[in-house]
Amino acid sequence: MLFTHPVCLQHDTGDYHPECADRIKAVLAALESEEFMMLLRDEAPHATMEQLMRAHPLSHIDYVLDSVPTSDGHHHLDPDTILSRYSGEAALRSAGAGIAAVDAVAKGEVRNSFCAVRPPGHHAERDNAMGFCFFNNAAIAALHAREVYGYKRVAIVDIDVHHGNGTQHILWDEKGMLYASTHQEHAYPNTGLADETGGEGIMVNVPLPAGTGSDDYRMAFTDILLPRLREFAPDFLIISAGFDAHAADPLAHLRLTTADFGWVTRQLLQVAEETAGNRVVSLLEGGYDLRALAASAREHVRALMGV
Ligand SMILES: [Zn+2]
Repeated sequence: MLFTHPVCLQHDTGDYHPECADRIKAVLAALESEEFMMLLRDEAPHATMEQLMRAHPLSHIDYVLDSVPTSDGHHHLDPDTILSRYSGEAALRSAGAGIAAVDAVAKGEVRNSFCAVRPPGHHAERDNAMGFCFFNNAAIAALHAREVYGYKRVAIVDIDVHHGNGTQHILWDEKGMLYASTHQEHAYPNTGLADETGGEGIMVNVPLPAGTGSDDYRMAFTDILLPRLREFAPDFLIISAGFDAHAADPLAHLRLTTADFGWVTRQLLQVAEETAGNRVVSLLEGGYDLRALAASAREHVRALMGV
């Protein structure tokens, strides 16, 4: 099932910002072809305060929403993290997409869901908006799966080229939560060292050198990340689906191909089949070369649909 909302296109980050509305247009256009005719689609609802507050204090939520301009123009929370008139609603619906996706999967309406939304979430810490992110969509979805449906071992696997410092920050001491990430070492936001292993929550960080290509990437997954994930045996799996590890991406320097995103998705689906009753929710994070983003997201959703 695909969740998105037109307001995600109205989150205006200004001219020349890589995290732009054309990203969602490119992803949705890629999912228009005939092979996606069977893909169910629904509009993302707003996340509620109660749902957001599992991951963020009210002070942070108020700070973000109160910073939204009421007329044209932009408000910078940091040099990269920019709000405009519809950004608050877009952020609420991006988080709400993850909530609705968890609901649909947990209720057995669909096996898995993909959320084509922006702003992304994985850099948003409990009380800090940064790196294009305001609310941590993946962590909010994971905590919703635990609190509402009682899943006891929820895993978030983050394939974005950047480390999800925010997801790690929120889940660090959450028992029954695993966060696993492959990312380019020494890249933004400079977290995610292998020795960051968590408190009550389990953190699995697999930094990869700039220039890493398909073979070494797949080996890191096969040798390190997937065994740790299987050992954890998730009963619900969430994917932070960034596509900026693609070789064409302008913001980072890994060298993945479009096919690698299909491969990694199928590896994660295999784990979900083994221990999580096939329950998978995937949320769009980064990906800034529009053609590579569209092609990679298409591969990802094809794998989710099993086509
Ligand atoms: Zn990224």
